[in-house]
Amino acid sequence: MATRGVVTELAPGIHALGHGKGGHVHAFLIDDGNELSLVDTLFEDDARLVLAAIRGLGRSVTDLKRIALTHGHRSHLGGLAALKRASGAKVYAHEWEADIVSGDRRAQAVTILPKQSLRLMPFQLGLWLNRPKHDPCPPDDTLDDGDAFGPLQVLHAAGHSPGHLAFWWPERRFLIAGDAVATWPELCAGWTAFNLNLQQHHESLRRMAALEPAIVGVGHGDPITQDAAERVHRLAA
Ligand SMILES: [Zn+2]
Ligand SMILES: [Zn+2]
Repeated sequence: MATRGVVTELAPGIHALGHGKGGHVHAFLIDDGNELSLVDTLFEDDARLVLAAIRGLGRSVTDLKRIALTHGHRSHLGGLAALKRASGAKVYAHEWEADIVSGDRRAQAVTILPKQSLRLMPFQLGLWLNRPKHDPCPPDDTLDDGDAFGPLQVLHAAGHSPGHLAFWWPERRFLIAGDAVATWPELCAGWTAFNLNLQQHHESLRRMAALEPAIVGVGHGDPITQDAAERVHRLAA
């Protein structure tokens, strides 16, 4: 089985996994030297890139101990059920996204009018039609602001969606901004049509900028590795 996509080590223990599908969606595999933690699961439902990345580290899939979802949008949920089956990892989401992840509620629809780039229209339409569906997987537990997720700290960064989470690794100055920031098709404060609550969204951006991150992983597009804090400050302004 061919593996499509790219795995990049951004800093010791931080691996960005990206493929072209799902709007150049990215997931982040965190290696604390002992256990593996994963934030988001890419679009493809067989999780092949995540499994290949774990093998590439010389690790076993059962070293993956925990999986967190930034939020319940389809592009981020693809490999979840397959990874749960393969690893037995504990699955976490914010309580306001958990019933979307479990398949019991659909994500709130967004406009199908063009807002930013025509390249985003298929994703707007997909959310509107709730297609394609993901393979449901009920979270084992919830995460909220201030919780620990492996070596990462959890931020409740609402706005893009009500239970949207971000993650911060203080020792690495590494932020996973989820869909609060995107770099595809261009650097922006998340995809305009998808941000449900703009006031919360801007407050979340200000909180994330104040962390002064050195590296920012985003849900869609390549991670920001240059002038990261300055760029997030500009988006938050
Ligand atoms: Zn999203
Ligand atoms: Zn997304």
